This record gives sequence, C-alpha cells and structure tokens, in this order.
Amino acid sequence: MSAVPMNGTLIVAEHVRGELRDVTRELVTAAHDLGEPVAVAVIARDPSQFDVNLEGVDEIVNVPVEQEEFENEVYQGVLEAIIAERHPYAVLLGFTVNSMGYGPAVAAKLGLGFASDVHGLSREGGAVVATRSFYGGKVDAELEFPAERPVLLLVRPTAFAPAESGGSAPTTHFAVELPASRARHLEFQDAAVGDVDIATADFLLSIGRGIGEREAIPQFEQLAEKLGAVLSVSRPLVDAGWMPNARQVGQSGKTVKPKVYLALGISGAVQHLAGMKTSETIIAVNTDPEAAIFNVAHFGAVADLFDVAEELEKLS
Ligand SMILES: Cc1cc2nc3c(=O)[nH]c(=O)nc-3n(C[C@H](O)[C@H](O)[C@H](O)COP(=O)(O)OP(=O)(O)OC[C@H]3O[C@@H](n4cnc5c(N)ncnc54)[C@H](O)[C@@H]3O)c2cc1C
Repeated sequence: MSAVPMNGTLIVAEHVRGELRDVTRELVTAAHDLGEPVAVAVIARDPSQFDVNLEGVDEIVNVPVEQEEFENEVYQGVLEAIIAERHPYAVLLGFTVNSMGYGPAVAAKLGLGFASDVHGLSREGGAVVATRSFYGGKVDAELEFPAERPVLLLVRPTAFAPAESGGSAPTTHFAVELPASRARHLEFQDAAVGDVDIATADFLLSIGRGIGEREAIPQFEQLAEKLGAVLSVSRPLVDAGWMPNARQVGQSGKTVKPKVYLALGISGAVQHLAGMKTSETIIAVNTDPEAAIFNVAHFGAVADLFDVAEELEKLS
C-alpha cells in the first residue's frame, strides 16, 4: 500500500464501457474550490487504461479489482477502505445513478456529512460549504459541515467545467480485499432511442408544459419537420406519457448541445437547464417575463407560443 497523506479531497472516477465519464473531469474542477490536494481513485480491472492525469490532480490512486464495470458493493467496499486509510477532508462523487448506488450508503455507515445534487462548493474556515437546490430548483441553500469528519458530496453533472488533460500526478496503488459482491454486472442493454437521437441534433424544437394539452403535440411534430428540427420535450410531457423518454432534455433525460435550441413554453427549471444550457444559441418563448429560461437564452420573446408557432408555420 502507498504512503497515505492525511486529508485532501478524494474523487472516485466514473467510467463505463472503457470510457471515462465527463463528470470525473468536472469533479476535479469542483475539488479545487476546497483548496486541498486532489486524489483521484480509479476502480477497475485495469485502472491504468483511464487517463485521469488532469490539470489539478495531485495523485492518481489505482485500485485494481476483478470487475470490469461498476458494481455498487465493490465501489462501496473500496471507498470505505480508502476513507479508513486516508481520512480525506472531503469525498466528491458525481450525482449520478452509479454514485447514488453506493455514496449515500458509505456516508450513512461511516457517519459522514452528506449532501446530494451539489452545484457549488467553498470553504469557510475549516468547514466545507456546499450549495444545493431545494423546491425544484427555486431556492438554493448553503449547507455547512463542521470539519471534524469527512464530508461526502454528490456533485451535479455539468455544474463545473471539465478539467483539462495534461496533469503530471504520480500514480500510487491501493490494494483492498473485498467480500464477494452480491450483485453482478452482466451486460449493457441500450435503452431505445426511438427514431431519433436528440443528443446529436443540430436544431431542437423543444416544447414544455406551456403547450397545455396532449392534443397540441402533432402541431409541433409537424412544425419541427417543416423547420428541419428535431422535437424534444421537458420532463412533464414524458411523465404524462405524452412523449417517449428518449425525447426528454435535462438532468434525468438527455444532455444536448445543438446549434439552436428553441424552447417553447418551458420555464427553465434547473433540472431542465442542466441538460441544455450549453447549447450554442438558445431562443426562448414564454408568456412569463420572469421565467428562468430567459436567464440562459440568447434571444427571448415574451409571447404566446401558439402565436409564435403560427408565424413560424408561415415562414417554413
Ligand atoms: C430529480 C429531478 C429530475 C428532473 N429532471 C428533469 C429533466 O431531466 N428535464 C426536465 O425538463 N425537468 C426535469 N425535472 C422537472 C423540473 O423540475 C421541472 O418541473 C420541469 O422542467 C418543468 O417543465 P416545464 O418547464 O415544461 O413546465 P413548467 O415549469 O410548468 O413551465 C411551463 C412554462 O410555460 C409557460 N407557458 C404557459 N403557457 C404558455 C403559452 N401559451 N405560451 C408561452 N409560454 C407559456 C409558463 O409561463 C411556464 O414558464 C426534474 C425534477 C427533479 C426533482
């Protein structure tokens, strides 16, 4: 086992099918705000296949395990062992399906400070201060964690810019004996993307609850076709069963980055913005001048979406 510096911020790299996930790079940027040395643990059959030598990383901790892909109990066992060994100041994981499968369990078992969906980090005195949203993104709260014990935070994907490649961190190895995992990863099954993949479209016509009723959808399907756009939606339309999941933009849907994102009747909840705010040009139409979507829009119209749709029909 390697030398074990106390404290520091520990990140657990996330990877799937041999690819490092973007959230790992974002966690490195987030960790910077805590001002501690940053160690990235890579748990994999061959950890060296993942390039986590990013700017801002001070140490790469390779943890070879039998499993190629993510398994809850493996990650939980490894993380508990590293925390016991190193007593990090903070542990950062992505607020992702994988991390939700073991992060809260580790925090509960070890009695760590914990917050999920964190999108801001700072340090006041010795204490970690994490910002997270409440009430559907309408209110941000700052949570302060006294410094006596490690804090485990699940950080919202896309909240921080990804760290660049090109670090020069040394690699150490961490060996851990794990009990047999009670669940096994067998295979991946691709979720149906339907007839389109909104994640690769250049022009998205995106509709939200502002359309009012299911019967309005064919009008926008036709408009999208006329404009050469792909139709996407906010989550309520999927939850209502009006549109398939493959069309949903946002935190629990797809992340998109089209050249043009035209949002009709979408309020701009933080979970929606998480999936589209880096679009090249965002155009928003909403009857409410205070709608949060206007905070990220490059062009906006305070107007009835049906009036705008009618005008677009004439153009196309
Ligand atoms: C864990 C979690 C994950 C989530 N994931 C996602 C996600 O991935 N994607 C997502 O979208 N949401 C997600 N949500 C839900 C999110 O919080 C919002 O509830 C949702 O984005 C709101 O959708 P909306 O903007 O279409 O509806 P609303 O918030 O109801 O907004 C409708 C908008 O339409 C406007 N409007 C009404 N009539 C008209 C009209 N005639 N013309 C113009 N404007 C009009 C209104 O002013 C309003 O701003 C998630 C929530 C949680 C808790």
